[in-house]
Amino acid sequence: MLNYRNFIDGDWRASAGPTVAVDDPSTGEVIGSIPDSGAAEVDSAVTAARRAFTEGPWARMTPGDRAQILRDLAASLESRFDELVDGLVADTGCSIRMCPMLQAGAPLANLRDFAEMAPLLEKPVSYPIQSAPGFGQWELHREPVGVVAGFIPYNFPLFIAVWKAAPALLAGNTVVLKPSPLTPYGVEAFAAAAKEIGLPDGVVNVVHGDREAGTSLVDHPGVDLVTFTGSTAVGKQVMSSAARTAKEVILEMGGKSPALVLPDANAELAVRGTLFSSMMHGGQACVATTRMLVPDSRYDEFLDLLERRANELVVGPAADYATDVGPVVSQAQREKIEKYVSAAVEGGARVIAGGDRPAGVPEGGHYVSPTVLADLGEDNVAAREEIFGPVLSVLRYSDVDDGVRMANDTEYGLASAVWSSDVERARGVAARLQSGLTWINDVAQADVARTPFAGKKQSGVGTELGPDGLFGYTKVKSLYTALDENLDARAYGAVGSGWE
Ligand code: NAD
Repeated sequence: MLNYRNFIDGDWRASAGPTVAVDDPSTGEVIGSIPDSGAAEVDSAVTAARRAFTEGPWARMTPGDRAQILRDLAASLESRFDELVDGLVADTGCSIRMCPMLQAGAPLANLRDFAEMAPLLEKPVSYPIQSAPGFGQWELHREPVGVVAGFIPYNFPLFIAVWKAAPALLAGNTVVLKPSPLTPYGVEAFAAAAKEIGLPDGVVNVVHGDREAGTSLVDHPGVDLVTFTGSTAVGKQVMSSAARTAKEVILEMGGKSPALVLPDANAELAVRGTLFSSMMHGGQACVATTRMLVPDSRYDEFLDLLERRANELVVGPAADYATDVGPVVSQAQREKIEKYVSAAVEGGARVIAGGDRPAGVPEGGHYVSPTVLADLGEDNVAAREEIFGPVLSVLRYSDVDDGVRMANDTEYGLASAVWSSDVERARGVAARLQSGLTWINDVAQADVARTPFAGKKQSGVGTELGPDGLFGYTKVKSLYTALDENLDARAYGAVGSGWE
């Protein structure tokens, strides 16, 4: 049993309050508990982070020194890589074939990638500002924002903790992380690495809990910047709460990303890619292309192939190497997905694969069969809302303009894919899609840390990752230095200025 504690001011602190059980999605067995923290624990963490920011060495170190600490964090996590993978498999239900790369390896690579960006923060910022003759000199300095509160969703806990903490720390901020109550392990591992390498106390803090911990953290006047990844509904609440104290916000939210199949697409590639994108990690990826738009001319051919390939996917426990699609995170998430499928069918959808609970899997686990829904109207709930489970919705379109219109007819704008044998044509179509990330003839590619995530519409506010994402954790100070002490040359001293 892992009985988690909050990590505040460089130490684990027991909490006398209530706890919440954590289960293994593959079996439903309780494997730990977290403290259901509230305002008092949040206040301790923010106070520690504020003290570390204003009094500690962190904000005054060079970006190069802080980059070395990111590398040390990566090395510490890497030194117990197998343990990290086992913990994340049990915690997230991510299959063992994907987990080492996706949940554990990529965050380590990202820590090192962010470390490489340190020169971007060296002062002063180098773009020339030419002062008029007789005036002084301007320099622009990038400074840390202060105390950063990072909200982590359940699906990629260590990965997204790194996406937030690495750029925030590199820029000289201190952080308070709030993991999902469903998957606390990855953020705990990050705190343990911080402790092991001797990160100064209070620079990284972790407060476990759910809504109360989350709202207390957003509301806390000691927080300067809120960086949130999670659902659009909660993101909007966070944005509105943060407005009360005029905090900076970065939001990475939900999606209903289209896979637009052009009439000349390679069927096997498009079908395999879209099934991978929409079913991988139990369909719990924000950038999953869960809306496949297929031209009338190829609709039946695609449905036949989708049915065949979806039925070949192996559902099973995350730790089993044969598993293609593992469980979803919780019983509540499974029930939510099942309700979506029922509502979609009531709304006219036809189930061509899945739509039920799979057989031959551990009884207590939270499994959903890979499900493909066809014949959906554009208003069908499964064509519009993010389901966050292994459910692919297939819609048909008449001509490419119609396909582009349908692809963009959504409140989301996170990702999209275009499938075509004519790359130039696909590039033309990609330019018309309203999403922050678009793939041509592939899915799930991201040279993460260097590739910005900037979801459009209700998928995002601000940018995460890449240099733009890093700069989001800084504020520019414009510094003016007069080059002489000549009062006569000043607006408040010159003859005729009225101030002399
Ligand atoms: P969620 O919105 O339920 O929770 C996200 C975090 O916010 C959790 O730590 C949660 O405990 C906390 N929280 C919940 N209510 C809160 C409140 N009222 N105030 C403050 N904090 C609160 O999201 P989830 O179910 O954990 O994750 C799935 C969602 O995350 C999906 O919508 C998915 O698309 C999205 N996501 C987006 C990206 C991206 O980069 N755009 C990446 C991963 C996941």
